[in-house]
Amino acid sequence: MKDFERKMLPRKSIDTETWFIECYRRHQGHPMKILISLYKGNYHKFVLAVVSFFIKHACVWVLPILTANIINDVTAHNPNTVRNIIFYTVFEGVLIMINVPMNYLYTAYKSLATRYVETGLRKALVRKLQQLSISYHVETQSGRLQSKIMRDVEAVETLSTQMFLNILNIVLNIGVALIVTGSKSKTVLVFFVFAAPIAAVTMVSFRNVMKNKNREFRKEMEETSARVMEMVELVPVTRAHALEDEEVRKISSQLFAVAEKGYQLDVVQALFGSVGWAIFQIFQVICLAFTGYLAVKGSIQVGDITLYQSYFSTVVNQVSAIVTLLPIIAKGVESVNSIGEVLLSEDVEHNEGKEKLSDVEGVFDFEEVGFHYNNSENKVLNQLNLHVEQGQTIAFVGESGAGKSTILNMVIGFHMASEGKVLLDGRDMSQIDLRTYRRYLAVVPQTSILFSGTIRENITYGCEHVTDEELAEVVRAANLTDLVESLPGGLDTAVGEHGGKLSGGQRQRIAIARALIRDPKIIVLDEATSALDSISEKMIQEAINNLVKGRTTFIVAHRLSTIRDADRIAVIADGRCVEYGTFEELMELKGEFYRMKVLQS
Ligand code: ADP
Repeated sequence: MKDFERKMLPRKSIDTETWFIECYRRHQGHPMKILISLYKGNYHKFVLAVVSFFIKHACVWVLPILTANIINDVTAHNPNTVRNIIFYTVFEGVLIMINVPMNYLYTAYKSLATRYVETGLRKALVRKLQQLSISYHVETQSGRLQSKIMRDVEAVETLSTQMFLNILNIVLNIGVALIVTGSKSKTVLVFFVFAAPIAAVTMVSFRNVMKNKNREFRKEMEETSARVMEMVELVPVTRAHALEDEEVRKISSQLFAVAEKGYQLDVVQALFGSVGWAIFQIFQVICLAFTGYLAVKGSIQVGDITLYQSYFSTVVNQVSAIVTLLPIIAKGVESVNSIGEVLLSEDVEHNEGKEKLSDVEGVFDFEEVGFHYNNSENKVLNQLNLHVEQGQTIAFVGESGAGKSTILNMVIGFHMASEGKVLLDGRDMSQIDLRTYRRYLAVVPQTSILFSGTIRENITYGCEHVTDEELAEVVRAANLTDLVESLPGGLDTAVGEHGGKLSGGQRQRIAIARALIRDPKIIVLDEATSALDSISEKMIQEAINNLVKGRTTFIVAHRLSTIRDADRIAVIADGRCVEYGTFEELMELKGEFYRMKVLQS
């Protein structure tokens, strides 16, 4: 793998990701220039590919000339005919033999260059996605980003191949055909120049009708596959409500719709396909008649009729290839631009040049903090003031939409205050290199996000050199001992995709263990909303208590019973802290918190 990487990299060592972003920045708005500059350092591979292509293709260009020469020799009773035939045969034979290794070289050079750009673009996109702000990710559907990394890059690769090599192929083919024809007969050249484009454009326009029908058919197929998937997912609900016949009826009508579109496609294909073919043949016949007539008149030699016949078909096919290429080029250009939108996005977290932290205590101050999301004018937080001591646990409660998660996101540094300041140990958070701060932070989100791997891997995510003793301690503190012991593979049991093989409570305790192993100074904990049975709840509560001990902790609590031990509780309403104090103090106050507590119990 390493060898291959070296082979693929450009001659001059450049940092591909930085260079690619630079290409986009320099040539903004000129997709073709961007595309060409991405290949910097790899141009020699293209030159080698072109040379290999020329040699590999020579046998195809030469064969019609040799055929014509042999016919001409035979008809002219040339005494050297036999000697010539032997020479031509050996010559063409050698060219054909060379074709195989040259085709290999051509493909290898072309592929090395295009795969390099493809990989480089994907790497640059992946890195950029890791840098883009969390707001960007929240606002952009993850599917769209995925499609940029996979589909758009693929379209750019196709564009490169088409632009640099197929167009070259076309130009060379047409060029050779026209030059040879022109050198032999100007009249035939004029005929080619007028007749070939007409033939090509007529053929392609018939093909386009087929393409449209094809598109309709594909859309109907996609629709069907989505419906079938939905139907399969719904089977338990359908069965439970005895709606099987209804479902079968719905899908059947969809299947008939597909069949109808399929039939239309078949018929149109048969009709237009044969019309296109017939047009091509008619032009061939016209060419034959025309060159035959010229031969009778003595303007051209008899053998040249076959030469023109084969070159005419080459020119027509190549011109129609150009017309077919246009949509592919348009799609590729669109993809070049679409990748640029991400690579050039300024919505990144800026950490460079900011203060790096080498230690964190965990004292927080919110001073007159106001916040609104970029996409709306509504103030989510409004003149919020809070002071949190080192090691204190502060719980936020309030109605949904009050702004609790927004506060947690500010503690993580995902959002910066629009007004006022958030201070960490007396330092303005907007002036801190957040990457250094987050080494002291652990986040336990509402829905625990596990990746497909073992329990061990999920707990030690991002931490190297964890000893077995440390891990055992964490497993104990997160109340996971019973679970781990009950599994045949212990810590090395795979959790399935997204932790699918575990219960919600178990997943959450793994997330708590993941936080514990980092031994953080600050904890951000968004309590799961899903109802748990009392045993699970007790186990999680114990794990949380172990986690928060001695650490500054921010909790969003949905079950008010779980925050009895919090040092402070802040009731958030309309982006402000409306009540603040210990559990007992707030209960005595008989205000908002008391009302919520009574409602829940
Ligand atoms: P809570 O956690 O208390 O339920 P949030 O902090 O999630 O509340 O949301 C506070 C308000 O901000 C809500 O009105 C919500 O609609 C809005 N909001 C949350 N996220 C975004 C976003 N990415 N863009 C715009 N508005 C948002």
